[in-house]
Amino acid sequence: MCKACQERGLTWNLGNYICAFSEDFSNNWRCATLENIRNISTDIQECDKQKYITLNISNVKLNNSSIGLSLWFTWYKQSGTIQGMFILDKNKLPRTPTEEELVEIVKYFKMAG
Ligand SMILES: [Zn+2]
Repeated sequence: MCKACQERGLTWNLGNYICAFSEDFSNNWRCATLENIRNISTDIQECDKQKYITLNISNVKLNNSSIGLSLWFTWYKQSGTIQGMFILDKNKLPRTPTEEELVEIVKYFKMAG
């Protein structure tokens, strides 16, 4: 389970959650780390109720190295489930981000915003 879900705990008033960093990333429901990412994202695009965000993360560094070019993720309507989240980078296959990377991305955009 991610640190943000542990800190938020079960007292959260909108119901239970499934942390994306418990077992299978795709089985998530209002994971606190994913919610933090969603909360810093302002430019939400929509296609037939499917929402998606592309964050430019090219300036975000973790341990002095680049994470990737973009963080792309999508969900349906107001759903708590992020259906897909990928780090996109030049000449690399899309991959699921780590918790550490997402924490760094949130930090970066909070400082910038
Ligand atoms: Zn979590």
